[in-house]
Amino acid sequence: MNLKDLPKIELHCHLDGSVRPKTIIDIAKREKIDIPSYDIKEITELMIAPMECASLDEYLEKFSLPIKIMQSEYSLKRITYELLEDAAKENVKYMEIRFAPLLHTNGGLDTKRIIESVLSGIKEAEGKYDIKGNLILSFLKTVSPSSIFEVLEIGKEYLNKGVVAVDLCGAERKGFAKEFIEPMALAKEYGYRITIHAGETGIGENVLDSIELLGAERIGHGVNIDNCKKAYDMVKDRGIALEICMSSNVQTKAVGTIKNHPMYDFHKDGIKVTLNTDNRTVSNTDMSKEISLALKEFDISKDDYRKIYYNAVDMCFADEIIKKRLNEYI
Ligand SMILES: [Zn+2]
Repeated sequence: MNLKDLPKIELHCHLDGSVRPKTIIDIAKREKIDIPSYDIKEITELMIAPMECASLDEYLEKFSLPIKIMQSEYSLKRITYELLEDAAKENVKYMEIRFAPLLHTNGGLDTKRIIESVLSGIKEAEGKYDIKGNLILSFLKTVSPSSIFEVLEIGKEYLNKGVVAVDLCGAERKGFAKEFIEPMALAKEYGYRITIHAGETGIGENVLDSIELLGAERIGHGVNIDNCKKAYDMVKDRGIALEICMSSNVQTKAVGTIKNHPMYDFHKDGIKVTLNTDNRTVSNTDMSKEISLALKEFDISKDDYRKIYYNAVDMCFADEIIKKRLNEYI
């Protein structure tokens, strides 16, 4: 298989974890933001998490530099455009970008301008490349549930005009879902689709809660369902898609090695898996690399890949017109 030419879909990619190092330096100079170095090699090192992170928390520290830079309309638009450009160049045809609006207010931007800046980056890239993008509004699991309501109200205006879903992300503690029942119920009522990071470095029960209490249609990672039969069966029986990010899972110690990743076992057992990068810069990866890892470590055939691609079409939050087009690429 020629990996680069293979059509790809990415459903789990964080904007702040996927910034080009050179862009960090350019924007810091342009907007006079103080950063630790202006040397591309040093900045790159600061942005990539080692394969041997101590934990998910150490991995998450890598986001502080990009977040510092992503506080203006120019910056948000440019970084979004560049992410889609990078993806388009490896034949990604559709991408759901997620980001947390509440992390981009330090420069005085309000939620409306933050969302619009990212949407304008998507629009510009769509005009230049054969790629479609949609936006998922993420919320850190450490924010107060009440702060989510305001973003939901403002984001509502852009629903199905670029914004499609909400997500909860960040460090995972047991039973987190119970705190977010109200905002996620409102999101659902407004028409946001729901995906939740769960069972990443936590426990399988969190996946169960995310589906039952929060209405998740997709789960970010979900690797821990292999130690919770109830969660495993629910994901399988209800056709919940898992957004698998293998390199990231090794870095955060969610799994020991790629070879030990349960992705292929899940797939063979009929669970809907999709392949994703999580963070192109922090995890030093792209879709071609994730697919090549899957091919190298598992016995994945062209038909398996086709099935994984169709899972992504089926479970993406795009409209039927886009889905129809995506089905025609493969
Ligand atoms: Zn993630």
